[in-house]
Amino acid sequence: MGEKFPAPTLLIVIFFILSRLIPTMGYSLRDDPESIRLASSDYGHILRENPAAVLYPTSIDDISSLIKFSNNISTPFSIAARGHGHSTMGQAMAPNGVVVDMMSLKNHRPSHASGIIVNTFNLSVNNNNYYADVGGGQLWIDVLHATLEHGLAPVAWTDYLYLTVGGTLSNAGISGSAFRFGPQISNVYEMDVVTGHGDFVTCSPQNNSDLFFGVLGGLGQFGIITRARIVLEPAPKRVKWVRMLYNDFSAYARDQERLISVNGRKQSNALDYLEGSLLINQGSPNNWRSSFFPRSTYSRITSLVTKHGIIYSLEVAKYYDQHTETTVDKELELLLKGLSFLPGFVFEKDVAYVEFLNRVKSGEEKLQSQGQWDVPHPWLNLFVPKSRISDFDAGVLKGVVLKRNITTAPVLLYPMNRTK
Ligand SMILES: Cc1cc2nc3c(=O)[nH]c(=O)nc-3n(C[C@H](O)[C@H](O)[C@H](O)COP(=O)(O)OP(=O)(O)OC[C@H]3O[C@@H](n4cnc5c(N)ncnc54)[C@H](O)[C@@H]3O)c2cc1C
Repeated sequence: MGEKFPAPTLLIVIFFILSRLIPTMGYSLRDDPESIRLASSDYGHILRENPAAVLYPTSIDDISSLIKFSNNISTPFSIAARGHGHSTMGQAMAPNGVVVDMMSLKNHRPSHASGIIVNTFNLSVNNNNYYADVGGGQLWIDVLHATLEHGLAPVAWTDYLYLTVGGTLSNAGISGSAFRFGPQISNVYEMDVVTGHGDFVTCSPQNNSDLFFGVLGGLGQFGIITRARIVLEPAPKRVKWVRMLYNDFSAYARDQERLISVNGRKQSNALDYLEGSLLINQGSPNNWRSSFFPRSTYSRITSLVTKHGIIYSLEVAKYYDQHTETTVDKELELLLKGLSFLPGFVFEKDVAYVEFLNRVKSGEEKLQSQGQWDVPHPWLNLFVPKSRISDFDAGVLKGVVLKRNITTAPVLLYPMNRTK
């Protein structure tokens, strides 16, 4: 019968049935205008889809009951987990269905967790096999702070840390550390998942492996992650952060590839991070993406960009601590020796590890203060094979971005190792 109702009536009926048939959810299932408004948009500000209701779970059973209920009615409704809602095309929306707000589980102790309990995190240290059991609705910035209290940190990051563990593990979680450690989905030992049947299942590469590999990078379509066991390593203290500028794309790509060829996880002479970006005529060289060119160099860099149209920036980082502080400069010098960046256009900064990892936050704050954060964000992510990267430069970067003077958004360009 359900499908004969006009849409708004159907929404009311679903909500009415849900809130009565699942009494334990009485207080956590909401359809007030504010809850619906928040769950019907995302960082992309391109799509808007109203759910019938939003579930603010207080336990994993709430999620399981919701899914089982939907499966047992004649017209199941759509259900979407929502982390921090930083998708760009409505991926965490559930038109006419129910959005599950995973961040409400932030203070919930993940079940099946072992080890020392640290606030809502469970952190365990076993024979040099370090890990943290983390709730799917936790923000990576909170994971960082909690693990650092133990001198440990995850090895795989995104550029921006105000994203949830469940949200990035449903995609990939890629940043400048991926050439060496792989994306975040390659740094998970185990997960607890509520499946599409509403069952609570623990999975790993050895146990329920289809579910494990389906959920990782599964775009939220194979189950809801309630706990992930994340790989940790001893945390460094500080970071040598270097930017180099190029006007020749082939020299740039060659240097990027050379640098990521040293990539063993335990290889102490490898870089810890490598990314690249474009400088095009965007006003100040210090655009929103945490640039650190000294003010005295602005006019030199602007002239370079004006002369060549596009300048390629190569950004690398080498972490260090008290044991390596006397050797880090030498190691970095050896790594960068023989690179073909433009003479005189190399810039270095020495920052605390947390400042480096959280570098995009200051950009967000700046855009928030200018009212430019909650605006449409059409984003495109592409993997381009090495064999076509020069064509991509000629056809897209020079042929489209430069020719059409598309200067309002950042363009990131960095190499990955397929084996990772
Ligand atoms: C400023 C900014 C910078 C970014 N930088 C990077 C970057 O450097 N690298 C990178 O890889 N990505 C980056 N992203 C993209 C980001 O990783 C994804 O958009 C991610 O999905 C956002 O996480 P979220 O918690 O906001 O997820 P949401 O947008 O809330 O959800 C994303 C998807 O995951 C699903 N989902 C959410 N939680 C769970 C869960 N617990 N279980 C199962 N499925 C779930 C949702 O249903 C949806 O399909 C960036 C995004 C922004 C806005």
